[in-house]
Amino acid sequence: MDLTTRLHLLNLIRLSASAESTCRAAERAERRARLRRKEAAAARRRCRSAVRTARSRDLEVAVKALDEAESEYEARTGQVEAAVLRWRRAFAASERADARLGRELARTRKLTGAWQPRRKGARLSAEISLLSELAAMPMELVRAASALLVQSSAGKDSVVALDRVVRWAKAAGCLDKVVVVHADIGEEAEWPGVRDLAQQQAERYGLRFVVVKASVGFLGMVEKRGMWPDAQNRLCTSTLKRDEAAKLFTQIVDELGLDDQALIVNCLGIRAAESPSRRRKHELTIDHRASNGRRLVLTWHPVFHLSETEIWQEIADQALDYHPVYDTLIPRLSCIFCILASFEVLVRAVRLCWVLGLPTPRTYLDLEQRIGHRFKDQFSLAQVVEEASRREAEEGPLTWRRGDAIRHHLGEDAAAAYLHRLALAPESERRPLITHTLPNGCRHRGVGHHEHA
Ligand code: SF4
Repeated sequence: MDLTTRLHLLNLIRLSASAESTCRAAERAERRARLRRKEAAAARRRCRSAVRTARSRDLEVAVKALDEAESEYEARTGQVEAAVLRWRRAFAASERADARLGRELARTRKLTGAWQPRRKGARLSAEISLLSELAAMPMELVRAASALLVQSSAGKDSVVALDRVVRWAKAAGCLDKVVVVHADIGEEAEWPGVRDLAQQQAERYGLRFVVVKASVGFLGMVEKRGMWPDAQNRLCTSTLKRDEAAKLFTQIVDELGLDDQALIVNCLGIRAAESPSRRRKHELTIDHRASNGRRLVLTWHPVFHLSETEIWQEIADQALDYHPVYDTLIPRLSCIFCILASFEVLVRAVRLCWVLGLPTPRTYLDLEQRIGHRFKDQFSLAQVVEEASRREAEEGPLTWRRGDAIRHHLGEDAAAAYLHRLALAPESERRPLITHTLPNGCRHRGVGHHEHA
């Protein structure tokens, strides 16, 4: 089966899923409308009985209330009829979409037996199998895409994902389709130099670089809600990153100006090994929420099957620049204080802030106090800062050397070779990311570069 047919089937799957969810929503709306009519009927019964038993001086008021209840009941009945009509239309559309998908699947995949899209998981398994076939042919996927967006946090997984996509796009002769997107979640929440590094990583390949930013940053969002997000409610990711990136899809499709549906491949550097919830994801999926008649959006995880060591190996092999925060053995370039980070990592982050003279621990502590909600269920930021102070008193300030991340994961020789390769890279790829003068006169060029002034 060729790629065009696979994409055509995926779009039919999307249409079928979308028609089914419209049908379910219409069914729910109909149930709600019936419930409201039932309540209106009960109110009307009460008013009728009040009219029957009213004394003459109360009769006028009771009759007026009954008139209103009758009108309310009629309006609710009208709403039920309209809701039933909408549900019937949605059901018929869903049946048609399923039948079309069934016919096309039977024709192209030579299915035997009756297609039963409503059988639990039937459509999903067709979707998964088509997508895993597509994921196994990255060059064709890159060639077929109208645009390739790489969501870059500037972190280690993003930079390897970007490098892989660029290599495939170069080989396919379509590097101009690649756009690097960075979600800015607020200067006060991120490590210094993150945005610059994301831009620098894009510029290394001569790619277009776009920054998306919500009107309210991470701290503003927490202040407004009076709560920190958590693993179950990752509003920070959905509101500050996903929703903002989705707005860009519309802009990109407008720019493309295609007559046909555009294929947007949205690349994210997430890996199965990162967490049990990520392990349940797939390498390639349809973004049902972001897709519509004008665009089919596929979410692609080009480094999905890589381990952490393999990520560092690719960084070393390709001489990719990474953020110096990794050299302090903080494992992820996330927000300075990520709601998903462990106690140990947060303690390290506080100590790094102190070395860099960042006000972040104080800012977060104040916010935690103000909203009266603990940073995480298991512990507060105040406890993290307390532990960081204890370690600082015991061990002194954090120290590190450039290349420590590679040293830690791949050994001394790999780190030496990596630093040598970086030193040979053009000056534009080596500019210092952060320059901080510390109170004790110790100057850091790049987070991990100690120079005594
Ligand atoms: S890095 Fe952590 S805190 Fe920051 S947006 Fe992502 S999940 Fe939320």
